[in-house]
Amino acid sequence: MAYVPKTLVLGRCVRCGKKIYRGDEYFFCEKCGVSYCPTCARKTFGKCQICGQPLVRRP
Ligand SMILES: [Zn+2]
Ligand SMILES: [Zn+2]
Repeated sequence: MAYVPKTLVLGRCVRCGKKIYRGDEYFFCEKCGVSYCPTCARKTFGKCQICGQPLVRRP
């Protein structure tokens, strides 16, 4: 069992509050400086809920 726990939290999804861990795929709004989890990015069709700008996929 070589499972390494992911302890490095980068932030939280602004929409659902889910923690975003380092190494996880997430989406970022450069204008608002907020992050979205992949689920919420899909639900908002890849756009920021706040400003409507397209989200940038990270990392
Ligand atoms: Zn979310
Ligand atoms: Zn935005």
